[in-house]
Amino acid sequence: MMMKRRDFVKTSGALAAVSLLGMPHIARAAAKKVVIVGGGTGGATAAKYLKAADPSVEVTIIEPHRTYYTCYMSNEVISGVRPVERIMHNYDGLRGHGVTVLHDQVTGIDPDQRSVKTAEGQTISYDACVVSPGISLSYDKIEGYSAEVATKIPHAWQAGEQTRLLRAQLEAMDDGGVVIIAAPAEPFRCPPGPYERASQIAMYLQQYKPKSKVIILDSKAGFSKQGLFIQGWERLYGYGTDNSMIEWHPGPDSAVISIDPETMTVETDFNDDFTGDVINLIPPQTAGQIAIDTGLTDDSGWCPVDMKTFESKQHKGIYVIGDACIATTMPKSAYSANSQAKVAVAAILARFKGEEPGIPSYVNTCYSIVGKNYGISVAAVYRLSEDGETIVGVDGAGGLTPMDAPAWALAREVSYAHSWYNNIIDDSFG
Ligand SMILES: Cc1cc2nc3c(=O)[nH]c(=O)nc-3n(C[C@H](O)[C@H](O)[C@H](O)COP(=O)(O)OP(=O)(O)OC[C@H]3O[C@@H](n4cnc5c(N)ncnc54)[C@H](O)[C@@H]3O)c2cc1C
Repeated sequence: MMMKRRDFVKTSGALAAVSLLGMPHIARAAAKKVVIVGGGTGGATAAKYLKAADPSVEVTIIEPHRTYYTCYMSNEVISGVRPVERIMHNYDGLRGHGVTVLHDQVTGIDPDQRSVKTAEGQTISYDACVVSPGISLSYDKIEGYSAEVATKIPHAWQAGEQTRLLRAQLEAMDDGGVVIIAAPAEPFRCPPGPYERASQIAMYLQQYKPKSKVIILDSKAGFSKQGLFIQGWERLYGYGTDNSMIEWHPGPDSAVISIDPETMTVETDFNDDFTGDVINLIPPQTAGQIAIDTGLTDDSGWCPVDMKTFESKQHKGIYVIGDACIATTMPKSAYSANSQAKVAVAAILARFKGEEPGIPSYVNTCYSIVGKNYGISVAAVYRLSEDGETIVGVDGAGGLTPMDAPAWALAREVSYAHSWYNNIIDDSFG
């Protein structure tokens, strides 16, 4: 699924009339400028593929952090399987492609003037703007929680210091301790993520603190790849027995509604109290704050976009991709962000040439590592619906790890997951 420049140009040429033949025309005109807000997976992919498809476009990506910590594979950092350095990436690759990387914060986007303002006082104009700011955490939806409290009760849903903190707390916990994971309601970043995290923590505890356990307090009555996760937990962690290392309490009754960080107690919607030694509280989410401030969101807190191009329905000339956008059936994942970035790039370049963007297809795969040599996955190929309003799965494309899969197949899924990680990093940042 990952493409080199030559292949992308070839494909998008057929798909969306982005062709090398068109480049001399673009080169003669004033150079087009694209500003990208956010240097995460979506933004980095867009920057790289814009330059790959048309080097004459001036691409500026604005991102405050010099290091990007991937959330994907951060659960392996939390369980101690992967050193944190192996989820850290820089922007040298993008610079090498001719992208201007600005480490600054976008404080405002003016859709009428077609310009962005930054914290350091720059105003940068654009012909097209790609917005990929990820998520914003709604601390206020959980009584007693805040960004400050999160320095003690981590969410670890934006990787970096939070990942390190949760890892350190697990290491410091005594054997026999209780780890609580509070899982949010849909929609949120990485639907299988909380359950992979529970699995990874159980794997760590089983080896180093076997009298401990993980309690998942869920806002939802069901979750992504549930049957496969539960089968994995039964096989690996005694799920369903008195000695299970994982307990899952379904929502809506078990949704966490408040936290007392002093007593390390959470309260659920059903008025049950749970006390933990480590609490991983993942709050509800919305699109990143800059999308809200720019008026790109609707009442849901997420950004409605044209499914064919990812152009905002609220503001022309702005393309919202990744977790922040409403991509109907596509989950909020790095792979989705990467796929959406390519669709947006093809649409932007087609429009620069005065052409109508082609009909895209999209792809996503989500691997979850449930234990040592035990991986599961879901893969889907999507297309635009006939009315252009939604993204729908292509029948017969993609699939799910089968139930009762043999050990060799589950072990192979783990190596696929690791190679997927290396590939997407190379495709987005390399
Ligand atoms: C535990 C966990 C496990 C996961 N595992 C997987 C997985 O296995 N597979 C998978 O596909 N996905 C996975 N994901 C999901 C994946 O991390 C996200 O879906 C993906 O990062 C979304 O990309 P994005 O570009 O939308 O946002 P991000 O990658 O979060 O990037 C947003 C960037 O925008 C920047 N930004 C925000 N506001 C501004 C501003 N005002 N100015 C400038 N920059 C700004 C931020 O600093 C950030 O770098 C996982 C997530 C979690 C939490």
